[in-house]
Amino acid sequence: MKKALIIQFFLLFSISVFAQNEEVKNVILMIPDGTSSSVLALSRWYKGYLAGDYNTTLAVDPYLRGLVRTFSSNNPIGDSAPTTSCYMTGQPSKAGFVSTYPEKTDSDLFPVDATRTYQPLITAFEAARILKHKAIGLVATSYLEDATPADCMSHYYNRHKRAILAKQMVYNGVDVVISGGAKEVRPLENELKNKGVNVIYDDIDGFRNNESDKLWAFFDESDIPYHLDCDTDNVPSLAEMTKVALNCLAGSPDGFAIMVEGSKVDWAAHNDDAKTIVDEYLEFDKAVQVAIDFAKKDGHTVVVILPDHGNSGISIGSRKTNKTYNKMKIDELMQPLIDYTVSAEKLGDLLAGSDNAEIKPLFKKLCNFDIADEDVKEIVDMKAKSEGNEHSKVAYTLTKVVTNILYKNTCIGFTTYGHTGEDVFLAIYDPNNNAPTGWLTNTDINEYLCELLGVSGQLPKLTDELYARHQEVFDGYEVKIEKVSKDEKDDNYKLIVKSKKQKLEIESYTNYFVLDGKKIDLESVVIYVDKNNTFYLPKKIREYLQ
Ligand SMILES: [Zn+2]
Repeated sequence: MKKALIIQFFLLFSISVFAQNEEVKNVILMIPDGTSSSVLALSRWYKGYLAGDYNTTLAVDPYLRGLVRTFSSNNPIGDSAPTTSCYMTGQPSKAGFVSTYPEKTDSDLFPVDATRTYQPLITAFEAARILKHKAIGLVATSYLEDATPADCMSHYYNRHKRAILAKQMVYNGVDVVISGGAKEVRPLENELKNKGVNVIYDDIDGFRNNESDKLWAFFDESDIPYHLDCDTDNVPSLAEMTKVALNCLAGSPDGFAIMVEGSKVDWAAHNDDAKTIVDEYLEFDKAVQVAIDFAKKDGHTVVVILPDHGNSGISIGSRKTNKTYNKMKIDELMQPLIDYTVSAEKLGDLLAGSDNAEIKPLFKKLCNFDIADEDVKEIVDMKAKSEGNEHSKVAYTLTKVVTNILYKNTCIGFTTYGHTGEDVFLAIYDPNNNAPTGWLTNTDINEYLCELLGVSGQLPKLTDELYARHQEVFDGYEVKIEKVSKDEKDDNYKLIVKSKKQKLEIESYTNYFVLDGKKIDLESVVIYVDKNNTFYLPKKIREYLQ
């Protein structure tokens, strides 16, 4: 009797422990690129103003729980490539470096080992795929190979080598992609189709009717236009992209890891374009709601939301309100934002293709204010100066002029067109409610992500095994590196290793090698770095050579 009671008690106890500690299977990482914390306050006031209710909150609000220090290896103000790289790899790196060990400089904030410079570093997502068989998803409003998504599943010291990064992602077992960037993927689409991926370009119906759990859907050749300027009948919102991606991944038997980026909060911030910053953030916030709803229903999903760095020094109040801030009504703050119906970039583009007589009516129609004569003159002069230049260049120059004119009409302040070095906010939805709080660093975020994905402490070992230098792996063999094509612009290289009886060939940025004509798959991509003429590849390839 007593024994039975004890067993019963034990059973009850273990059930209740289980109920409070759900196994985490899925991780949704959400990055609003370049979003300073004041964007949250401004977006919340704006949303409340539109709703006529200042109790209105953001989807992210209930889950805010800390601040994160984010930086580059040699600079307290981070660039997108090294900041998300550090969340992914645990290693702070240098501007432009995509999940790659940094160069040593004279301003490093922490010790850098020069012998490891340019070594690709395995990411938390790659480790989750290789060791835990998790499915992988990437969603972005920019192009797929832009720094933040690239940081999750590719490696290179130069973020601008877009073809190199896109090729790696094609070969790196990414199950779901929804983004811009069709241009770089199109030439490799057969590789995806052979793996059973449903590849879609600019086809919203095909996208909505997709039934495959492997989907790569593109809605622009490069970045997707801002939500404000976008053809929303034919391009899904970030919230819908997130929903479709989660539907694809939900059935993965071993769970999934996905990164969702609100890419262009950052782009708007580089233009000091307050309305577009708020609009892009609110679109991101709707995607946060989709992710939280999924996680709550699923019970085994954690959602981690944090920017990669600040941008623009945006503030509620500007030098214009030095002495009036304590009298400023909310209408003064909000009305210009309501009135601006296009991005500064779009207005710059329209002005570049318009006659001078159309300048005033355009501002009135699209931004609802009468532009001052001196500002009209500035636009006219700028257009005259850039006559003969191609449209995109003129538009770019005019965007900066427009930005300044729009800015003068608001009470929103900016300190820079560049990134800023403040701590970024951290929000986490965790079904077990045991996520970290307080002040954390970018390397803490990596440790936390690795813990959630079940790969704690595994990244250094995997990097060592999968990214060894070819000179060491093939020591004693005859080795040759040559270009794959004669095209000067082509960045693909081939490593050829010869023994007495065998010939082994590896093409850069792919996940296989060819031994005496036979193709053998690898679990990671092989990286070639031109700076040190080195292939980084798995040590175990050597075992195939007799
Ligand atoms: Zn960024």
